[in-house]
Amino acid sequence: MSEPTSWGGVPVDELVEQFGTPLYVYDGAVIAERFRGLRDRLHSGVEIYYSLKANPNISVCALLHSLGARAEVSSMAELVTTQRAGVPAEQVMFLGPGKSRDELTTCLKDGVTLICESLAELDLIDELADGLGTVARVVLRVNPSFAVKGSGLTMGGKPRQFGIDEAILMEQPGLAGRHRSVRLCGFQSYLGTRFLAEDMIVENTRRILELAERLSAHLGVRLELVDVGGGLGVAYFDGERDLDPELLVDQLNPVFAAFRDRNPDVRMVMEMGRYLVGHSGVYAVQVRYVKESMGERFAVTDGGTNHHMAAVGIGSFVKRNFPIRLLNRQSTAEPVKWNVTGPLCTPSDTIGKAAALPGDLRPGDVIGVERSGAYGPTASPVYFLSHGYPAEVLIHQGRPRLVRARDDVQSMLAAQILHDFR
Ligand SMILES: *Cc1c(COP(=O)(O)O)cnc(C)c1O
Repeated sequence: MSEPTSWGGVPVDELVEQFGTPLYVYDGAVIAERFRGLRDRLHSGVEIYYSLKANPNISVCALLHSLGARAEVSSMAELVTTQRAGVPAEQVMFLGPGKSRDELTTCLKDGVTLICESLAELDLIDELADGLGTVARVVLRVNPSFAVKGSGLTMGGKPRQFGIDEAILMEQPGLAGRHRSVRLCGFQSYLGTRFLAEDMIVENTRRILELAERLSAHLGVRLELVDVGGGLGVAYFDGERDLDPELLVDQLNPVFAAFRDRNPDVRMVMEMGRYLVGHSGVYAVQVRYVKESMGERFAVTDGGTNHHMAAVGIGSFVKRNFPIRLLNRQSTAEPVKWNVTGPLCTPSDTIGKAAALPGDLRPGDVIGVERSGAYGPTASPVYFLSHGYPAEVLIHQGRPRLVRARDDVQSMLAAQILHDFR
């Protein structure tokens, strides 16, 4: 039982030689498999939106778009990424609790759907749309009254900066007619991320669809779209199990079908990031030194939490390891416990704590943190200690292509301004 020394069909030695380390490598075939595995099974009326937050690389976005995914963004740069990646404005939704006037105006001008997160934002959208002489079609993000279970990180059902409380909306019966230049057209709820239980996702979806029906009736909104969020998880840690798309969809499709029966013209939307890209990626680092301290082994590598904050085991009290393995060669040496650490001057720069890796680990070896395609470098403190952004490579049809150049000293210092204190 030997693990392959390649990623996406390309030998790891070749990847390291061509692109250097530390390096993120995404296997496009895996992204396609994840997308199609869900798309082919899911109720055909459900539109899948890719949340760029998970991995905003422009080529990753373009690949997912070519497969049929739409896009959900939360900043101007993410919006422009979708435009350059060729996603038409009608297939983009903009969401986020702190949108700027500039972002709102751009969405209104370009015809990007806005998901509004507060009553104050709704007033501003109305004012801006009025100024542009247009009518804004707006989806309201709702923070439901019901508590959410089964999520790794909860975004709804408790006091949150996201969305408008269901209870507050229920006190606004005249909301649909209040704004001259706004047309409310739907509801969205996103309850949390890292859901790994199929039945929880089904239950949440059912409740969000009902919530949308209840609110549209109460507020007098002609329902055009319901976005049930998503937050589909990926198993990272011991004891976790990946979602089974077959099992999920078997339960989910009847819920969507029943909603469609009751609301034949209403668009149904799911949004997700991690589920589509998480499995595709590996974070590859090269061992620089091996050493011992007080009886524990350390492999000190050229990359760490500056590029892969999530590998610390975010959201847990005990540090838990992402799947991690020796990537560049087979070893017959007995596995022993290694702490895999990076170049930062902080003890928390540990991407593998007591990880089982071969006893003969040595400088030059390449270690891979797997399932790292989502929330990688952009969700990490890449400038901490000024090592900068790692290179990113996307493998498409067997060919690795650089999709993000690594930072160098020049690029990192370019934005800094030296004052003359003499
Ligand atoms: C982060 C986020 C997503 C994507 O979450 P995943 O768990 O990566 O699928 C989708 N929608 C909203 C509103 C989010 O904040």
